[in-house]
Amino acid sequence: MTEFELIRTFFASPPLARADVAVPVGDDAAAVDVPAGMQAVLTTDVLVAGVHFFEDVDPAALGHKALAVNLSDLAAMGAEPAWFLLDLTLPRVDTAWLAAFAQGMYALARRHEVQLIGGDTSRGPLAIAVTAVGLVPRGAALRRAGARPGDGVYVTGTLGDAAFALAERTGTPRCTAAERALLDERLERPTPRVVEGLALRGVASSAIDVSDGLLADLGHVLAASGVGARLRLEAIPLSAVYRRHLHEIGWEAALAGGDDYELCFTVPAANEAALAALAAERGLAVTRIGEITAGEELAIYDETGRRYEPARRGHEHFR
Ligand code: ADP
Ligand code: MG
Repeated sequence: MTEFELIRTFFASPPLARADVAVPVGDDAAAVDVPAGMQAVLTTDVLVAGVHFFEDVDPAALGHKALAVNLSDLAAMGAEPAWFLLDLTLPRVDTAWLAAFAQGMYALARRHEVQLIGGDTSRGPLAIAVTAVGLVPRGAALRRAGARPGDGVYVTGTLGDAAFALAERTGTPRCTAAERALLDERLERPTPRVVEGLALRGVASSAIDVSDGLLADLGHVLAASGVGARLRLEAIPLSAVYRRHLHEIGWEAALAGGDDYELCFTVPAANEAALAALAAERGLAVTRIGEITAGEELAIYDETGRRYEPARRGHEHFR
């Protein structure tokens, strides 16, 4: 199969055709309509075999994740996803692998009505880069620099399951097959919090997605905003599986583990009732874990009021 046939077979007719795509896959570049009064929000993320995923991972899960991590960045900006581009370097053309990869990617794309509009394909070590584009009303993007003392600190979903899944693979602690399946799902098929991100427009004062661990990512918000935070350890939301194994795994995976793709955001006191109402009405899982403070410290206290010192603060690629 030539490069051209490969593109035609798997990527030239995505399952969704948006009315705002003027020039789809097949030309030198794509063209799209940005509605008046809206801004395009652009993000890209690369996944490299051996660094971000195991080479033998389920290709459908990989297709899902390559798009999901980008939709997560758009969600953190409060942007509605619209289009994406896909750059692939492949060591060989494996049509079964590509079909599964495309299926996983398109299933998520359909769910969020986001259309593949272009990309590039080359031979090389296995790596996948997705560039996603979303839309926000002009000036409405959620930023990292907006947190103010007194704001509540919140997260969506539960934290630490992906890091727990990795720890479990290397042997500790031991889980049942059903528990492992739940954890692997969280690691390999993260749910981008697109609905939550859109709901936070006009409500949150800052937002970020948790890809490198809560403390590291909240740390970016604090640095950008010039503030500190006080967190309640026991308020950090955990899945039922994580909670069952908390005595073995401890809080580290939830505080500093990567790959959660939940949102961490801050809400001014005046908006907290509105957030609670919105969450109840739309069935959104959001948990208040602390508040923003003056100063620059990120401090965690346990239920006895004692200061908790985490062993490490997050994932760093070049450490
Ligand atoms: P060019 O040489 O002009 O860069 P290519 O031959 O690389 O064009 O690509 C032809 C068309 O196929 C372009 O519209 C490009 O966006 C699209 N394309 C190439 N690879 C991919 C891919 N992996 N996914 C989606 N579209 C792709
Ligand atoms: Mg090209």
